[in-house]
Amino acid sequence: MKKDFNINKIVRANIKKLLPYSSARDEYNGVSDAMVFLDANENPFENGVNRYPDPQQSRLKAKLSELKGVSIENILLGNGSDEVLDLIFRAFCEPNRDSVITLPPTYGMYDVLAKVNAVAIIKIELDADFEPRVDEILKVATNQTKLLFLCSPNNPTANSFKAKSIERLVSNFNGIVVIDEAYIDFSNEESWVKRLQEFKNLIVTQTLSKAYGMAGIRLGICYASKSIVSILNRIKPPYNVNELTQLKAIERLAKPEDVSEEIQRILTQRDWLISELEDLPLIKKVYPSDANFILAEVDDATARYSELINKGIVVRNRTTQPLCENCLRFTVGSQRENIKLITALKTL
Ligand SMILES: *Cc1c(COP(=O)(O)O)cnc(C)c1O
Repeated sequence: MKKDFNINKIVRANIKKLLPYSSARDEYNGVSDAMVFLDANENPFENGVNRYPDPQQSRLKAKLSELKGVSIENILLGNGSDEVLDLIFRAFCEPNRDSVITLPPTYGMYDVLAKVNAVAIIKIELDADFEPRVDEILKVATNQTKLLFLCSPNNPTANSFKAKSIERLVSNFNGIVVIDEAYIDFSNEESWVKRLQEFKNLIVTQTLSKAYGMAGIRLGICYASKSIVSILNRIKPPYNVNELTQLKAIERLAKPEDVSEEIQRILTQRDWLISELEDLPLIKKVYPSDANFILAEVDDATARYSELINKGIVVRNRTTQPLCENCLRFTVGSQRENIKLITALKTL
């Protein structure tokens, strides 16, 4: 973040002027359980979900705040990280004028969201070690370059970027740096959530879709400064996180030891898979992994992908991605699934 970084210069003019949709309920939420709510045209017969959900997700945020050591006012929740990322585009990028930087090979949604929002994409490929080219990134950024996406651990390469490189980028990029930590719980690296106070231009996103085992409920988390969170709050649809999702997430977050145990089991399986893959003649290279998937170079990715499909196993063919020629991405599954994968690969 440059010294003159000013969030008001980054946010779109129309968003600055916007007053959020407000329901009468917002003002009285939590005042009293004895209140009679005749304001929102709901059906009065109780079934657990007949009322609109809490638009601020207070109970869920309180739980997250306690677990992550971040204040509630630094947290925004979305319908998956995909919604959070879209809100970030809509808040800060003027269509047909602004640009963002992505570092391929990386998560495909940054590209899709940029296109949907008519925002130009500047792509700076990772280097041969899958690390960001810091100097080049800083050199191509202009005043119109609003966002820089760092996915760490990165999908599909599975490595975490060096903390020093990330720090140089956050310190010197004069826009918002979004660190996508979808896979952070599988990594030994520190989350950048700890450093939000230091960098006013930092957004960290996490999700319950991977380590927390809740891809089906769609819950994405954004950690950022109070001013960024309040801007995003202004444009988010009021009921973007539904009641069932909030309840399920609270239940899961109440048992962090269950999550840790599953992560440990996945990491044990990851190590086993890596060692098995390394022994297979059709595998040319297995990249180290800081996530719950493994990128491996094979002799012929497209042929091997189809052969696996014929054996009833779906993996991800990444061969068309830069630096990923002939690479397949294997998600770490259950022990049974992983044995099935290795057994199938041995017969090819
Ligand atoms: C899977 C994944 C996500 C998760 O997105 P959700 O919408 O929260 O399910 C985010 N970022 C990356 C890099 C991912 O691989």
